[in-house]
Amino acid sequence: MSSQWIYLNGQFVTKDEAVVSVYDHGFLYGDGVFEGIRAYSGNVFRLDQHLTRMYESAQSIMLHIPHTKEEMQQIIVDTIQHNQLDNAYIRVIVSRGAGNLGLDPASCSKPRVVVIAEALALYPQELYERGLKLGSVSTRRNRPDVLSPQVKSLNYLNNILVKLEANQAGVDEALMLNDQGYVTEGSADNIFIVKNGVIYTPPVYLGALEGITRNAIIDLAKDHGFEVKEQPFTRHDVYVADEVFLTGTAAEVIAAVEVDQRTIGDGKPGAVTNELLDSFRNLVTKDGVQCYPEKRGAEVS
Ligand code: PMP
Repeated sequence: MSSQWIYLNGQFVTKDEAVVSVYDHGFLYGDGVFEGIRAYSGNVFRLDQHLTRMYESAQSIMLHIPHTKEEMQQIIVDTIQHNQLDNAYIRVIVSRGAGNLGLDPASCSKPRVVVIAEALALYPQELYERGLKLGSVSTRRNRPDVLSPQVKSLNYLNNILVKLEANQAGVDEALMLNDQGYVTEGSADNIFIVKNGVIYTPPVYLGALEGITRNAIIDLAKDHGFEVKEQPFTRHDVYVADEVFLTGTAAEVIAAVEVDQRTIGDGKPGAVTNELLDSFRNLVTKDGVQCYPEKRGAEVS
């Protein structure tokens, strides 16, 4: 790719030109919403679900996105095409826009819309083969009645604090608990455990973002004949699981082989995790919005 084009409020600008006001309330207060999306071979995976989540987050914080969902879908496809990308990570940001220094959003008259599409920096294959080390952290997940984890807002400090703790502990990812001590999710990934052939993931009301990958994995697992239970569990259940894995747009499906220095199973990514990763990678090129339908048509004929 020669140069990267970024969509900024109705225009494509270069990376250097893609700057926003220091008075933007996204910058001043984390006031805004975002999505992280992925395209595989020109297919934007489950774009409609990502947009639904973003528009619901915006609705929750009374942020009016100045485009219909259909227009936003087109802006995202245009950004990918403009950058001639097939495999991409896409970041969509809608901030409250520039206002004055007071926190009242009423001073912000125009939300800012940014779409960044980049060639993907994949997690190294070695990490999928080796599996991650997880560590539980002292920072608890935001309580849903304080700041709902379903609002994918620009305020990610809860997750950042968790990531800092994981870094300090020298582990790859954090295991985040809620205020009652139940397992919720990682810093930016959902968590699953496998025990005696049954797959468990925490219900989102405990304090996890309802991940698009999470939901895809639940459906795939059921298609593969697994029983999937959305029920609360504790760290003990994680320690004695046969397999543990995380899911997310960036991470896809990745095994955790050590949790708080307990080895999980035989210390290697397990068969169920690998089976679900394979079928997920098979799904992602199919289910979504095609950026280059003519090309796809030409390949098929
Ligand atoms: N939890 C959090 C806190 C996240 O930020 C993400 C990434 N968006 C996820 C879970 C995974 O969600 P998804 O599968 O939609 O990427």
